[in-house]
Amino acid sequence: MRVTDLFEEKRDKPIISFEFSRPKGEKAAAKLDKALATLKTVNPDYVSVTFGAGGSTRDGSFELIEKLKTEFGFCVVAYLAGIGLGPDDLCAVMDRFNGLGIETVFVVRGDAPTWEETYDPHPESMKYASDMISFIKERYDVCLGGAAYPEGHIQAESKDKDLSYAKLKQDLGAEYLVAQYFYDNQYFFDFMERCQQIGITVPVVPGIMPIYSVKLMASLASICGATITDQVRNGLSELPSDDKKAVSQFGIQFTTEQCRGLLRRGVRGLHFYTMNRAKSVSKIIETLRGEGLL
Ligand SMILES: Cc1cc2nc3c(=O)[nH]c(=O)nc-3n(C[C@H](O)[C@H](O)[C@H](O)COP(=O)(O)OP(=O)(O)OC[C@H]3O[C@@H](n4cnc5c(N)ncnc54)[C@H](O)[C@@H]3O)c2cc1C
Repeated sequence: MRVTDLFEEKRDKPIISFEFSRPKGEKAAAKLDKALATLKTVNPDYVSVTFGAGGSTRDGSFELIEKLKTEFGFCVVAYLAGIGLGPDDLCAVMDRFNGLGIETVFVVRGDAPTWEETYDPHPESMKYASDMISFIKERYDVCLGGAAYPEGHIQAESKDKDLSYAKLKQDLGAEYLVAQYFYDNQYFFDFMERCQQIGITVPVVPGIMPIYSVKLMASLASICGATITDQVRNGLSELPSDDKKAVSQFGIQFTTEQCRGLLRRGVRGLHFYTMNRAKSVSKIIETLRGEGLL
């Protein structure tokens, strides 16, 4: 499945996608199986599998791709993070994806693993995702996607420069972009305006990160630089701090409202970071479908 074909086929309907990662350990694997069984009934257009930077979770990613395709019958997009890989490694991974019947690869640079004090990046690994896109495009007949950042990437020199690199991804062969998540839709709307001004014409799909727990929200935001808005902060501050159920409920309501706002502005899709969980995402989608927005 090529994501570009989905955009063609469903011109007037948003594309729904779910992101999963390799489970770490037996308990996590059992939990993921349960989540997958629930999310299969939600019927996304495609699912994606993240790739551990540094090659740490490469085999796990391949196994999960195979499982999602053969056991669950999902259309699967494979992610590829390049930071620990040289050109030969990239080709080896692409050949493996090819063998698994993958037709769309989402290409990211990746980040050096912070838990490895002595992490040594591959001497020949490509510096930027755009270099990988160009390298892969020349060698493989696949649909390629890339990441974009409505608030600017955390290491970006400036928002304008960062945007120009998103455009470079398009110019070198990326056929769609998925935007990093945000908690204020205005970031995305402003970003889309700037994309238009600079000539980005490929579909840009907003990433959606439901608030699963306060701790997870804070830790992810500190890694990627997403702004935790006053609306989120104030909403959460009204809840008893140890009431996990109330936080998850708040997250579902907040994210449902956020998706309503995006859908009413005609976004091309919604890409959910599931964190290998099913409850919040399935509830959000059920509500939006009930309202005829999906
Ligand atoms: C939807 C999504 C999925 C993701 N999936 C994964 C995953 O599976 N595995 C994983 O490890 N990580 C993943 N990430 C995280 C990603 O690897 C990090 O955000 C990483 O820090 C940047 O990746 P990138 O591909 O955007 O990098 P790049 O586009 O290479 O950008 C990295 C930095 O370099 C700058 N830059 C880009 N191009 C140039 C250039 N030509 N010249 C100078 N500066 C440049 C940018 O402004 C930016 O600051 C994902 C991110 C998103 C949004």
